[in-house]
Amino acid sequence: MDNLFGLTVEALGEKCVALNIPAYRGKQIAEWMYRKGAASFDVMTNLSKALRADMARSFSIVRAKCVERWDSSDGKTSKFLLEFPDGVAVETVLMRQPYGNSVCISTQAGCAMGCAFCASTLHGVTRNLTAREMLDEVLFIDEMLRIEEQKVDTMVLMGSGEPMMNYENVLTFLRLVHAPYCLNMGYRNVSVSTSGIVPGIERLAEEGLPVTLSISLHAPDDELRSTLMPINQKYGVCEVVAAGRAYAEKTKRRVTYEYILIRGVNDREKDAKALAALLRGQLANVNLIPINPVVERNWARPTTEEIQKFCRALERLHVAATVRQEMGADIQAACGQLRNRRLEEGGGDFD
Ligand code: SAH
Repeated sequence: MDNLFGLTVEALGEKCVALNIPAYRGKQIAEWMYRKGAASFDVMTNLSKALRADMARSFSIVRAKCVERWDSSDGKTSKFLLEFPDGVAVETVLMRQPYGNSVCISTQAGCAMGCAFCASTLHGVTRNLTAREMLDEVLFIDEMLRIEEQKVDTMVLMGSGEPMMNYENVLTFLRLVHAPYCLNMGYRNVSVSTSGIVPGIERLAEEGLPVTLSISLHAPDDELRSTLMPINQKYGVCEVVAAGRAYAEKTKRRVTYEYILIRGVNDREKDAKALAALLRGQLANVNLIPINPVVERNWARPTTEEIQKFCRALERLHVAATVRQEMGADIQAACGQLRNRRLEEGGGDFD
């Protein structure tokens, strides 16, 4: 049966017309599915009984299933493992921040980028997520929040996967989330994070969507960055930063450079200086992320003082910097950790 969940109003209208149902019914169905959490046609009371029965014969509304949930001890971070009908599962995280509810969305099951510090990539990539599946992630959390008369306020594409390697689906998803019949989410409340896929950054700059671009830089020179992020051999530091600069110029939006701090690896004073030299004068800021030591490596996070020192060094060199507030460490909320555990326990979706 034809799953209607995740379709745009236009696509729903076409489905209706094919069944000799007027196209405007598509909007009603969209509102039921996306704004009122309808999981079946039965509840769509502004459609006649006969019409509902007709639709149920041809169409279905299939949603992801939440198969595991973890809540941090402070109650602010919750992580969900959502399983799609084909058995593939991804993680979605809710962070209750002082400025609102933020969700962290996975864009792929696993990841192909091979970053040395990241748990998401340990088993490679299983497949891209569809727009429908990404919408399922955010709606799952929004529907949960509705019970408390809250909603998802901001969204970061920083879960498992590389959004630029799944570009079309990600863009379809962003447009859907933005649509008034869906979550009506402002593009300014969305951040797209990339490991530095230059053609993707260039393409996104042309879309005219005022989303925030985050670039995972993690090192200020090619030699070091290539040891942390294999993609650097394809798109080097200068090329990535030039693409970031062009994005900021084109969109007038400040670009965030994410920089994981790994003790003794990329947190030295000379690294701060090199990073500042790269970014000075740009519409950019640096988000410092104390590393989450998830992979079997002897990498440690710097002390709080060392982190502050790195941050201040950047500021002194006229580069805006903030330290990311860590959430959910006690529930392994970093990318890919929970999915991996499930895969390793044999409940997984990879061969
Ligand atoms: N592929 C995209 C988006 C997913 S990763 C990207 O690379 O940006 C989201 C962010 O989490 C990235 O900045 C990534 O480098 C960071 N990250 C991955 N593993 C981490 C770890 N062990 N500790 C801290 N941050 C990590």
